[in-house]
Amino acid sequence: MVRKAAALFDAGMPCGAEANMAKLLASEASWHAGEAAMQTHGGFGFAKEYDVERKWRETRLFQIAPISTNLVLAFLAEHVLGMPRSYSLRRANVRPSLNLPAARPARFGRSV
Ligand SMILES: Cc1cc2nc3c(=O)[nH]c(=O)nc-3n(C[C@H](O)[C@H](O)[C@H](O)COP(=O)(O)OP(=O)(O)OC[C@H]3O[C@@H](n4cnc5c(N)ncnc54)[C@H](O)[C@@H]3O)c2cc1C
Repeated sequence: MVRKAAALFDAGMPCGAEANMAKLLASEASWHAGEAAMQTHGGFGFAKEYDVERKWRETRLFQIAPISTNLVLAFLAEHVLGMPRSYSLRRANVRPSLNLPAARPARFGRSV
């Protein structure tokens, strides 16, 4: 899914659906991996010294940034499933035409 989205993006074609679905799946896979690591390591996983708690915390970020799960689902509901928009654009600085290549993902530095 990621490769398909990237290929579409590189070809200058609309890739919003593929990019959003890939991001959603990756964020969930990452979170489940972090959860499994935390559960496996038990109390030591929670201790800062073993770095598992850092990975656990960081994997949670991908359900929030660079775009939250709620907004991915809102995009897919409207543009893939054809459902009515679930929120208003009036107060948000959002371009109404979403049939654009997805923005390049933000880079998260070491400050996370
Ligand atoms: C560590 C970190 C690094 C970051 N780095 C960058 C960066 O390098 N570049 C950059 O551009 N940005 C960066 N960001 C910002 C990031 O893109 C935003 O945090 C992210 O897009 C979520 O926006 P927000 O924080 O304004 O939350 P909000 O948009 O205020 O969302 C808050 C909650 O409300 C929900 N919500 C909002 N709108 C709707 C809606 N219409 N329907 C349903 N639910 C909704 C969201 O899903 C979320 O749960 C970073 C954020 C973090 C935490």
